[in-house]
Amino acid sequence: MSDLKTQVEEVRGSFNSAIESVPTTDALQELRVRYLGKKGVLTSLLKSLGGLPPEERPLAGETLNSLRDELEKKFESRKLALLGAENEAAEATDWVDVTLPSRGRPWGAFHPVAQTMHEIVSIMQGLGYSVVLGPEIEEDYYNFECLNMPSWHPARDMQDTFYFPDFPDADAGSGAADTAPGAPGAEKSSKRRLLRTHTSPVEIRAMRRYGAPLRIVCPGKVYRRDNDPTHSPMFNQLEGLLVDEGVSFSVLKGSLIELMNGFFGRELKSRFRASYFPFTEPSMELDIECVECGGKNPNCRICKGTGWLEVCGMGMTHPFVIRAGGIDPEKYNGFAFGMGLDRMAMLKYGINDLRYLFNGNVSYFLSGRDA
Ligand SMILES: [Zn+2]
Repeated sequence: MSDLKTQVEEVRGSFNSAIESVPTTDALQELRVRYLGKKGVLTSLLKSLGGLPPEERPLAGETLNSLRDELEKKFESRKLALLGAENEAAEATDWVDVTLPSRGRPWGAFHPVAQTMHEIVSIMQGLGYSVVLGPEIEEDYYNFECLNMPSWHPARDMQDTFYFPDFPDADAGSGAADTAPGAPGAEKSSKRRLLRTHTSPVEIRAMRRYGAPLRIVCPGKVYRRDNDPTHSPMFNQLEGLLVDEGVSFSVLKGSLIELMNGFFGRELKSRFRASYFPFTEPSMELDIECVECGGKNPNCRICKGTGWLEVCGMGMTHPFVIRAGGIDPEKYNGFAFGMGLDRMAMLKYGINDLRYLFNGNVSYFLSGRDA
């Protein structure tokens, strides 16, 4: 027993001096293993109890157990002290400056097509145009008939779209075909609904609502039954309409040249070519010089070497359309133009595939042209 007492004193003494000089929590853990671990000093003493005479075992056991409690206690309090010191040291070096601006995330931005729309609208507002919007689900009557495209008109084939099946008896559209819009019965028989194929029906709605004189642009989504690398079933157009007394061709040309130069930020060569649309007479197309090569590269992938880019269809508004808008074509005339906003965005930002605009892959815009 006296042997055991000596051993206890020795263990206590060496533990006390060791624990005082332990510098870190890691070293403290090592010390704990050395004394209290499975093969530790104290553990082997406890194991040796079995070799004592039975009458000595209880007292010896009690002594060793209280030594173990004592060491555990000292260990815990030393651990707390070391942890506190270590935290303090860490705070002194790894401090956080709460006044620093946060790292933040990349800012969102308007879609290139929306940016294009905003820019064009803002230029046109500078020329005195207001913005008017119309429904994307439109009636056959506004989408075709009022724009001089009765049901038999071949131009309808170029704008095949998505019809809603809810007016089966209006399907024929006949009877109204040769009836002037606004005539009794015409409106009723062509109420078949569809996804609008162009923004032009907004012209009719605006003329009927606001009368003349009128100066408007109508941006928005339109739909056609196309789907290939250069056509999407949904795309964006911007329509312009001016109705007033004695409007001349030169006003139209001047407005469009102003718009193109403003949008591309420099003076561009332009040319007007004769064309055909059912709702304008005469009709034209506007070409601008190639924004990529200026006509200098015979292998240009944008203009295919022609040096010209088709950007806009237009013309003097057909008297039929003015009348369909509830305005007297004897007194007023006007012009209209329409352009694809997606195409304008592609030309301005150098995007070479229409599908990039709609597939939601932002990496194309963030990292370069060929993501
Ligand atoms: Zn070119």
